[in-house]
Amino acid sequence: MTLIDRYAVFGCPIKHSKSPRIHKIFAEQTGQALEYSAQEVSAEQFPAAVAAFFAVGGKGLNCTIPLKELAWAYADVKTERACTAKSVNTLALQANGSILGDNTDGIGLVTDLIGNHAITLAGSRILILGAGGASRGIIAPILEQSAHSIVIANRTVDKAIELAAEFHARGSITGCGFSDLKNRQFDLIINATSTSLSGQLPPLPEALLVHNGVCYDLAYSTEPTAFVLWGQDNQALKSLDGLGMLVEQAAEAFFIWRGIRPETRPVIELLNAERTI
Ligand code: NDP
Repeated sequence: MTLIDRYAVFGCPIKHSKSPRIHKIFAEQTGQALEYSAQEVSAEQFPAAVAAFFAVGGKGLNCTIPLKELAWAYADVKTERACTAKSVNTLALQANGSILGDNTDGIGLVTDLIGNHAITLAGSRILILGAGGASRGIIAPILEQSAHSIVIANRTVDKAIELAAEFHARGSITGCGFSDLKNRQFDLIINATSTSLSGQLPPLPEALLVHNGVCYDLAYSTEPTAFVLWGQDNQALKSLDGLGMLVEQAAEAFFIWRGIRPETRPVIELLNAERTI
């Protein structure tokens, strides 16, 4: 009897995850026989749950809040981008039995910005709100696109300063608090705080976005998020949420596991069409 290859996403909460649906569509589209489920796993349960999953024939995992740092620690070998981010969202069983850890969030965001929305990162002044795990994963891929500069602003100011210092050798990057943003302007503002999840916004000064600037919220929802609405109120040329990033990071994980690249555009279009907006 041939067993079907099993994949899953672990996280807490996980009930509303779109990942099983996205990977099911990818599998159908590419003719790959696989199963992908969502499993609620807390930080305390994580090591035992991962070991159990791979012990019974699991081939690969996605890890989301609050497990990405634990996944980084769990992986036997890590890609360069996972090491840079110190965070792992994709685990893959290797032929020799070791577990590879990768981080596909940053490439997912950059592909969505440049490939799907034709947004120029080269030469852009970019503001990242938030200094948590998601920020950590997107900084290096953005700097690699020759961004002019990145400012990280965070509620806990020391975290922004420390995070910026870690990436100092890769480009122009500084950290500060929200109150330090007064009288500054940016071409692209990325919300990597978790405020949108509770319908809130970080405190942002007026005129923060240049004329024809772009806003991007890593969070996504069926309704426009608080930050997407802020972008619209501030006359952003485009004010986008993270649905495209979600699909692109999933495609990258699928490629790591199956060696085949699914088409993302039809999946993004389908999920967008299902929103109430
Ligand atoms: P973390 O918990 O690691 O970080 C949360 C960040 O939000 C911290 O910088 C924190 O500041 C800040 N924050 C939380 N509450 C407030 C508040 N009330 N006011 C101001 N700042 C606040 O989360 P992640 O980095 O993992 O995730 C961030 C967001 O990115 C989430 O919405 C997540 O869903 C989204 N995401 C989307 C992905 C996609 O594929 N579209 C992929 C990955 C993440 P402080 O340091 O001061 O606590």
